[in-house]
Amino acid sequence: MSCNHVEHLHPTAARSSGCEECLKTGSNWVHLRLCLSCGHVGCCDDSPQRHATRHFQQTHHPIIASYERGERWAWCYVDREMLVAPDAALALLRK
Ligand SMILES: [Zn+2]
Ligand SMILES: [Zn+2]
Ligand SMILES: [Zn+2]
Repeated sequence: MSCNHVEHLHPTAARSSGCEECLKTGSNWVHLRLCLSCGHVGCCDDSPQRHATRHFQQTHHPIIASYERGERWAWCYVDREMLVAPDAALALLRK
C-alpha cells in the first residue's frame, strides 16, 4: 500500500442521489462514484460522460468510493491504487 491520501480525508455525505452533472444535463450513467473529499457523486468510466474522473481532473480530490449498493471499495486516482473503503466513509456508502 503506497496511498496515504486516506489519512487526510474528511468524508462527507453524498450531495446528490445520482451523478450531479448527469442529473443537470439529462445524461445517463452506468455506475456511481462518491468523492471522499467533498461528497460529489459522479459517474464511472463506463458511463458516457465519466464525470467522476472529470471531477478528479478539475479538483484533484484523490479518492472516490463506489456508490453502488453493497460495494465497499475505493480508488485513489493519484496512486492508481485500489483500496478498501475507509471506516470514516462506510456510513456514507449505499447499503
Ligand atoms: Zn493515494
Ligand atoms: Zn455523469
Ligand atoms: Zn470532490
